[in-house]
Amino acid sequence: MEERHLTTVAINLQDSTFAAAVLQSLPIGVISYNKELKILNANSAASALIDVREQADVTLSAGINEKIWGDWHQILLNVVATGKICKFDNVGYSANGNNLSLQITLVPMYNGNGGRQIAGGIMLLENVTGIATIAKQQAHTERLAVLGKLASKVAHELNNPIDGIMRYINLAKRTIISDRDHTKPLEYLEYATGGLKRMVQIITELLEFSRSRHSPSEDTSLDKIIEDAVKFIEPKARAAAVEIDRQCHKTLPKTKNSNLFQVFCNLLKNAIEAMPDGGKVTITCDISSDNIASIKFRDTGQGFEPQNSEAIFEPFFTTKTGGKGTGLGLAICRDILEKYGGKITAENAPDKGSIFTVYLPLKE
Ligand code: ADP
Repeated sequence: MEERHLTTVAINLQDSTFAAAVLQSLPIGVISYNKELKILNANSAASALIDVREQADVTLSAGINEKIWGDWHQILLNVVATGKICKFDNVGYSANGNNLSLQITLVPMYNGNGGRQIAGGIMLLENVTGIATIAKQQAHTERLAVLGKLASKVAHELNNPIDGIMRYINLAKRTIISDRDHTKPLEYLEYATGGLKRMVQIITELLEFSRSRHSPSEDTSLDKIIEDAVKFIEPKARAAAVEIDRQCHKTLPKTKNSNLFQVFCNLLKNAIEAMPDGGKVTITCDISSDNIASIKFRDTGQGFEPQNSEAIFEPFFTTKTGGKGTGLGLAICRDILEKYGGKITAENAPDKGSIFTVYLPLKE
């Protein structure tokens, strides 16, 4: 009896009304659309989460203000054209006074009967608002931990030169008092000055670090900011036998210029320092269809150890010896770019040197 009942259910699985019932009962939003992105079907979970319009792209763009994800029209068309699955985590969505954090997965939809031809796409929507809040709290706790670590590192970094300065001043004093030697005090005071210079260097960069959070912004064209940074750094490049090849021929749009100049100078300075025997830095610029500028700085230096690709962005991480580095440059760059809603990545070039890429969402 029981078995016969199961068979009946299995047969019903083929039924399209059964499939529709399953779709409606799912706790995640499911929207299917054709190749022209016209919505064919949306289950009730989808309608409860978002404001479903006629077109899939319009549905997403209407509720998502964050530009960092790119152009939804293009993204949805890409999924349909390439068959690649795309996943977006913690997408801010707001409609009808609701602010949600969604996980959006886009999958291709194939023709029935086992065909491999793409007929459109399916959008899966999951409400991760609660999870995102927990993640935010975790991030806050982590930030506090980082701040604590940073404070102790700052104290340590400043303590080192202070120790030396005290020692050399005491030595100088003692030598002057005993009036034994007139050249030694001068030498000791020179060392002490060196220590003070090191402290000034650290403090200046730390101040820039904090200034990167509040500096006023004015609109400047991106290529002008790059050009200014190149001009500023050119004497240092010439002295190090480094050629800077700026290939940003396009006129790039205007953007807020709070500290972008500083970011570009930092990357150029690092590139030059990575080529002690001279070389070349090539700067290229591009703007994607979703209005994100990418500016690449490629050098022909020694590159970095692959296992350090994340560590180099941490404050006080430096491989430069002899007090040449503070390890604050890239941390400052990352901080500034995050403020813009952008990011910075580092990779070793396939042949030689490294590539640092700045991604910057542009205004409409
Ligand atoms: P600093 O320049 O004071 O060391 P940064 O934060 O600017 O501090 O850089 C951190 C580290 O990242 C450097 O010490 C170096 O090891 C690595 N790095 C940065 N830029 C480059 C580059 N263009 N090529 C190779 N390594 C680099």
